[in-house]
Amino acid sequence: RAKQRGKNRCEVFDPAATPQALERAGVREALQQAMDRGEFTVHYQPVVALARGGRPVAVEALARWRHRHLGLMLPDQFILSAEQTGMIVPLGQLVLEEACRTAARWRQSGRRLRLGVNLSPRELWQQDLPERAAAALRRAGLGPQDLQLELAESALLQEPEAAAGLLHRLGRLGIGAAIDDFGGARSPLGLLGRFAADGLKLDRSFVRGLEKSREEAAIARAVIELAHRLGMQVTAKGVETEAQATLLRGMGCDLAQGHLFSPPLPERELGLHAGATPSV
Ligand code: C2E
Ligand code: MG
Ligand code: MG
Repeated sequence: RAKQRGKNRCEVFDPAATPQALERAGVREALQQAMDRGEFTVHYQPVVALARGGRPVAVEALARWRHRHLGLMLPDQFILSAEQTGMIVPLGQLVLEEACRTAARWRQSGRRLRLGVNLSPRELWQQDLPERAAAALRRAGLGPQDLQLELAESALLQEPEAAAGLLHRLGRLGIGAAIDDFGGARSPLGLLGRFAADGLKLDRSFVRGLEKSREEAAIARAVIELAHRLGMQVTAKGVETEAQATLLRGMGCDLAQGHLFSPPLPERELGLHAGATPSV
């Protein structure tokens, strides 16, 4: 049933189920057990500076579930269930803490990489989230400027009040925030002015449009310029070809991530520690 629901969603659990049904089906318990067993882990995707020869300046932390029987599961298979059962709150905390510890190890080996961590809509309502993030950073010996929380455009539109409040409190603590998944023609431009974020992350569909038509390229250029005028740093996601990277660099796009540079990988495979030969 989960598969019929569409596009590329393929949840382990039925995403259409109500919270009560999920409870009865033991989904919450399954997620809790996986957490207790230490099956959740974090992979990291480098974010590179386009103007500086592709030097990595940040990493995005991405949740992974190493299931005992099913192997490595991607967020599309469990984030929504975690969101619906409330398990996203402890899971988000786990990702945040783990990512901070990893960034601290990179720091110790001389690499300063800003962390990007994703938030789900429900997490926007967590009043203590900014303080919990600040505490996780402190415990790892990092500062607020070392973290950028990513709020999906859909979450901003779904929960505008919670998002505005959260952005305000993050700003006061000096923790960064980015609007994630911004998608070009289908996204309201007004969103950019309405939410005080430091960064804008352009969705993969946006990047794919660049080579399709002059019109889409013109829109991309205008969005990047507008974001810059509003004081936001722009990251292009899902960059897969040199041609895309060259176009984006020409448009003044600041940062990029995608398979052209590196897929998300476990810490030890990224080669970002001192002494290791950087793979990116
Ligand atoms: P996102 O924030 O848009 O993250 C980028 C996604 O694009 C990642 O998928 C990454 O593997 C994929 N990607 C990166 N480069 C390329 C590329 O060149 N081509 C293609 N086709 N894909 C690329 P992933 O890891 O499966 O994560 C999916 C989504 O799950 C994330 O989208 C994010 O919204 C959510 N997510 C991941 N981890 C967490 C988490 O800890 N908490 C919450 N709340 N959401 C998370
Ligand atoms: Mg993201
Ligand atoms: Mg996305």
